[in-house]
Amino acid sequence: MRIGVPRERYPGERRVAITPDSALQLQKLGYNCVVETGAGVEAGFSDDSFREVGVTIVDGTDILYEVADIIAKVRPPEPSDFERLSPGKTMISLFYPAQNKHLLEQAKSTGVNVIAMDMVPRISRAQKMDALSSMANIAGYRAVIEAGGNFGRFFTGQVTAAGKVPPAKVLVIGAGVAGLAAIGTATALGAITYAFDVRPEVAEQIESMGAEFVFLDFKDAQQDGAATGGYAAPSSPEFREKQLEKFRELAPQIDIVITTALIPGRAAPKLWLADMVAAMKPGSVIVDLAAERGGNCDLTVADSRVVSNNGVIIVGYTDFPSRMAAQSSTLYSTNIRHMMTDLTPAKDGRLVHNMEDDVIRGATVAFEGAITFPPPPPKIQ
Ligand code: NAD
Repeated sequence: MRIGVPRERYPGERRVAITPDSALQLQKLGYNCVVETGAGVEAGFSDDSFREVGVTIVDGTDILYEVADIIAKVRPPEPSDFERLSPGKTMISLFYPAQNKHLLEQAKSTGVNVIAMDMVPRISRAQKMDALSSMANIAGYRAVIEAGGNFGRFFTGQVTAAGKVPPAKVLVIGAGVAGLAAIGTATALGAITYAFDVRPEVAEQIESMGAEFVFLDFKDAQQDGAATGGYAAPSSPEFREKQLEKFRELAPQIDIVITTALIPGRAAPKLWLADMVAAMKPGSVIVDLAAERGGNCDLTVADSRVVSNNGVIIVGYTDFPSRMAAQSSTLYSTNIRHMMTDLTPAKDGRLVHNMEDDVIRGATVAFEGAITFPPPPPKIQ
């Protein structure tokens, strides 16, 4: 079978779904790879680098969709992409099925099978295919780099001939994948890092990354975010009040806030309120990774950098992985390659869509003319 990789058409998107290294591995699984000309250029992968590993380059999207049996993409497909595909072909991409019901309907009516890389269950066996974690890791790292680019001072403390420089104080709110990556990066740059999460079980991970866990005096010192499947549950109003009280206390001392708090399927919880921004020092920076879901900060504007009345810089970019396209493409294409490995049990270049497999079932949102989202809960943890 042939795997086709189109050039991403979403404005500003620089990633590519398959890199030359992954194409080589996919060919070892028995597939032929076909890439649209220029698809990898913005991520640093030229047409020649694909040709060198035996990939065929084609000129134009129509021909690519015609010759490919499987399309591998980064961004969700456009409605017109389904019209180019005949029944039984497979689309693999980030898909966000809960937000893209119209695309699910199209997959159903056209008989195209869809594997949503954002629906890979968060279980140990599937970690190597977990594209959301790969992208969140990059976003967490990049959030700190972005903060550094906007902060007019050092992260690390220094004693210089011209005077003593105190280290920057960074607060990371939400210590999931993106938060932990942000903590690691901020600490590595020499900042004093604090982190808060509603899930008490992450305290150890926060501390092992060199940050101080911000603990709340609440219900026998337990944080309140009883988790299911690695995700937090919404906090009680009393807990939220305690949390906001703590943030108010911290706001005047903190130089950089990175917010990553997320509860799946909900708008981002508002945690860094306007009065906290007003209490921060001028030149402080907030990077809000939850901007796409409405933001954790009251003043965030998605896809923008805004400056508050008191001179606090608030960054709400939603495309951090695309801003590190080489790294993101490398990790995402590895996630896809692992998914393809599981879909190709005989390593014979033939995709076997085993709906009894929890991971494949969980990620499959449309199959043989039916919508298969949401999936049943996974049997294994
Ligand atoms: P995750 O589920 O691993 O982590 C989210 C964390 O937030 C969890 O640890 C959870 O316990 C915590 N949390 C939930 N409610 C909280 C609250 N009220 N207070 C404190 N912590 C709370 O998610 P992730 O994969 O790390 O992603 C984090 C965020 O980054 C998401 O919003 C995601 O959409 C976003 N993201 C943004 C970009 C970008 O370019 N801007 C890219 C990738 C991911």
